[in-house]
Amino acid sequence: GAMRNLPYFCRGEVVKGFGRGSKELGIPTANFSEQVVESFPSDIPTGIYYGWACVGNGDVHKMVLSIGWNPFYKNIKKSVETHIIHTFKEDFYGEILSIVITGYIRPEKNFDSLDALISAIQEDIEEAKRQLDLPEHLKLKEDNFFHLPEGKIVNNH
Ligand code: ADP
Ligand code: MG
Repeated sequence: GAMRNLPYFCRGEVVKGFGRGSKELGIPTANFSEQVVESFPSDIPTGIYYGWACVGNGDVHKMVLSIGWNPFYKNIKKSVETHIIHTFKEDFYGEILSIVITGYIRPEKNFDSLDALISAIQEDIEEAKRQLDLPEHLKLKEDNFFHLPEGKIVNNH
């Protein structure tokens, strides 16, 4: 199940996505490279997750994350995209994104309209914010992972 691999720690470069227009919807998603995605447990279910994220050695923010099927590879490979719940002054392509995934919200869904999609994502964001204020999730915001030098990835500790 989705929870078996959690919390899941991951660090990698932010790359250009497939321009699905996430930013135009007001919900930009920072994409990890194919290499980082391949390092994920292969049995981690697709769907919407939440957790904590930090860009470079910046502040740690709440995030929602989607693990989905990558249309570039005819949906045989996964994509991992993080929407950080914070307003950034500038894009941060090429920077190192560190995340810890702490919980699961729902499976992937198809929506009848763009409006339905956007309101579902807004609900996901509200759910993530609430969950992340609970002590068991909040404590991971302070995890040493976010203060370690780049490159040191410590999973399952
Ligand atoms: P792409 O298809 O290249 O991933 P998006 O429309 O999903 O394009 O926008 C993602 C980019 O927006 C990120 O790579 C990052 O540089 C920038 N960005 C700005 N604010 C945020 C945010 N709050 N969360 C995630 N990415 C953000
Ligand atoms: Mg994106």
